[in-house]
Parts: sequence; C-alpha cells; structure tokens
Amino acid sequence: MRNLNCLLFIFIISLTLSAKINAQQSLDAMIDSDIASLVTTYKNLHAAPELSHREEKTSAFFATQLKALGYTVNERIGKFERPEWQGYGVVAVMRNGTGPTVLVRSDLDALPVEEKTELPYASKVRTKNDAGQEVGVMHACGHDIHMTSLLGAAKLLAQLKDQWSGTLVLIGQPAEETIDGARAMLRDDLYTRFPRPDFAIALHDTPDLAAGMVGYTPAYTMASSTNIDIKIRGLGGHGSKPEATKDPVVLAAQIIVALQTIVSRENSPLDPAVVTVGSIHGGTRYNIIPDEVNLQLTVRAFKEAVRQKLIASIERIAKGTAIAAGVPAERLPIVKVSETEVTTATYNDPTLTERLGKVLALALGQQNVVKISPVMGSEDFGYLSLNQQIPSAYFFIGASEPAKIKQSSETGVPLPSLHSSLFAPVPEPTIRTGVKTLTVAALDLLKKR
Ligand SMILES: [Zn+2]
Ligand SMILES: [Zn+2]
Repeated sequence: MRNLNCLLFIFIISLTLSAKINAQQSLDAMIDSDIASLVTTYKNLHAAPELSHREEKTSAFFATQLKALGYTVNERIGKFERPEWQGYGVVAVMRNGTGPTVLVRSDLDALPVEEKTELPYASKVRTKNDAGQEVGVMHACGHDIHMTSLLGAAKLLAQLKDQWSGTLVLIGQPAEETIDGARAMLRDDLYTRFPRPDFAIALHDTPDLAAGMVGYTPAYTMASSTNIDIKIRGLGGHGSKPEATKDPVVLAAQIIVALQTIVSRENSPLDPAVVTVGSIHGGTRYNIIPDEVNLQLTVRAFKEAVRQKLIASIERIAKGTAIAAGVPAERLPIVKVSETEVTTATYNDPTLTERLGKVLALALGQQNVVKISPVMGSEDFGYLSLNQQIPSAYFFIGASEPAKIKQSSETGVPLPSLHSSLFAPVPEPTIRTGVKTLTVAALDLLKKR
C-alpha cells in the first residue's frame, strides 16, 4: 500500500512537472513565432524616440497595438504640474473573470542624448528641448525594450486567456526620466478611473547582466531621489576689500565640505545614503565678491526617515555655517527642496519578489535568475505602489552579449552604461527575456485556482 501511494505520488509529481515543461515549451514556441516582428517593432521605436512630456507618437503607437490585441485602451492619461505638458499615459485593460488585478508597466520616454552607436536603426532624431536648445534624442535607457517586451507579453496573455482569471492593467507611462510621469497618472485618478491593482510589476534593462538573465533584489532595489537648491547669500563687494563683505564663495566651499560629514558622521553606516553637490554657480569676475552662490544637490536614500534626516541636516549645516561666518539673519541661505524633482524609493515586496523569482527561475533556468545588489539610482515606479500599499516587484533584465560582459570583467573597461550615447542592448535575446519575464509573472499572479 505504501508503495502504491508512493508510486501515485511520483506519478502526480511527474504529471505536474511535465505539464509545466510543456507550458514552458509552448510559451517558447509562441515567442519564437512573434520574435521577428517584435524586433522590428523595437527597431522602429528605437529610431523614433521622443523626449519626456512629448511622447505623442510613441503613446499613440503603443495604444493602437494594444487595441488590436483586444484590450480596452484609454489614452492621454496624466496631469502634470505644468498645464502646457500633455499627459501621454496609456491604460489598457483586459477583464477576464474573477481574480486579482495585476498592473504591468512600461515607460515610454527617451533622453536628450545624441546617439553614437552607428547601428542601422540608430536614432537621428533632433528636437528643441524646453530651454529651446537643439538636442539629439535617443532611447539611451532602453524604454523601447520595455515597450516591446510589454507588447509581446500583452499578445501572449491575450492568447492564453483560458489559462488565467482576473484583470490585467497594462500601463504605458510617460515622463519616467523626469520622474513625474507616474505621479501625473495618479493625479489623473488612475486608480479610480481604472481598476486598482492588487500587484504591480515592471522591468528595466541593464548592460550589467548578460541578455537572457534576470536580476532582482527583495526589499529596497532603487533609492529615493530628492533635488535640493541652496541659495547662499553673502554681501558682495570689491575683491580687494574682503573686510567689507560676507564672501558667499568661501561660504559655499565651507558648506560643501561640511555637507560631506552628513553621510560619514551623522548617518548610520547600515543605512545607504548619498549627498552629492552636482552644480555650483556664482560670481562673474576675478575681482568681484558676488552677492550669492547657487548649489544644486541630489540626495539619495532608501528609507523615508533617512531622507528626512538628510534634508534636515543639509538645512542645519547651510544655515549654521552662514551664522558662523557672520552672515546677518536676513541673508541666511535659502534651502529649497524640490516638489517636482523628487521620487520615492523602489521597494520590492519581499514575499511577492521571492515568489516571482522562483517562478522565473523555473521558466528561464536557475542559472539565469540571480539576486543582485540594490542601487542608488532612482525611478518613479514606486509611486504606483502607493507607498508600498500595493505589493510590487521590479526586475532587471540583461541586455549585453555574454562575451562582452566577460571581456569587460577581464579588461576592467566598463560597457556603455544606461544613458550613454553608445548604449546598445542586443535586441533579440533581451526582448525574448523581457516578454517571457512579464508573461510568466502575470500568469503566475493570475493563474486559475
Ligand atoms: Zn533612464
Ligand atoms: Zn530607464
């Protein structure tokens, strides 16, 4: 009897395993038959990038494709603080019975970078930026890979409707690079006009992993980012007569050095944090002590409490150093924390991320799915989780030829990074992995129980 039970158990296990293997094979076969047209889509998107807040043609193309696949599509979702900016968000919904609602997001925008890859499908697009300067435009962050992956997954999920139950909400998000697109969509009542998700997922390509691989980090994966302006005000005068002035140039130098002690002396070494002064501008000539010097800072942290502490320290140090230099109370530095150039941290719900990590390892091979370290870079996907109220997971997909990764680690010469004019993901295997990652993750969350 025990032997019979044992045999039955082995039989059921092997049935389940072979069903899983068959499902994988059929998914691979489906991707095989779509991949050529997906690569063409990618190259077309790559050759026609649009800057943040201007994704008019990109969003229209994305919406048209999703409509053709049977999704209910709404366009022009998103309200920006600047009323002249149109929100080009796309929301595509497919309702398929009872079950959870799963949001899958791709970003749409490109960067003001002149492409230097010399690929046959390289962008030659030029446009005027908001400041009126002519700039090249390039998908140097791979958002074209993300769009193509989501379109590929959207097609498979529509074809595999009998295998899942619930609601799919596919998002084309504008203005990720300027980190205001997700908030613009929420401000336009994203979660009341459309189904509020139970889970949210997204991916980003990376040159640091070989194409075919997926990397993920449970818990914090990307930092919050906060831009801060400091206006350091002194009392200007002649360069030969410092005793009659309060020199804001020297004060700026002291403040910048003092700011370095925030991370090194005030912050716990167990809480990652960055305070970078990225810009300093002041003065006009050799012999004039100016009235003011302006600094621009970026602040990175994972935890909100750490972010708040960094901001408070920056204010205290800027003002305290000015007081020590004898600057009168009415001329103390003005510290302005940006309300728009700010984004929350990207937090991967550990239970959800580990669950999907296991499913992806089965689908892509254990050796192709790896845990990676968090980064202090930022993105605005975290807003879509409403401050971690909605469990979300953000995956990185490899975009480099494995041989190039090997060569780079042997020579120590880094590969072109995201935002580089030379960034060139290898299309087919990267898209294949992107499509499979999003499809497998969505199917697992929506599988019939
Ligand atoms: Zn980017
Ligand atoms: Zn990006």
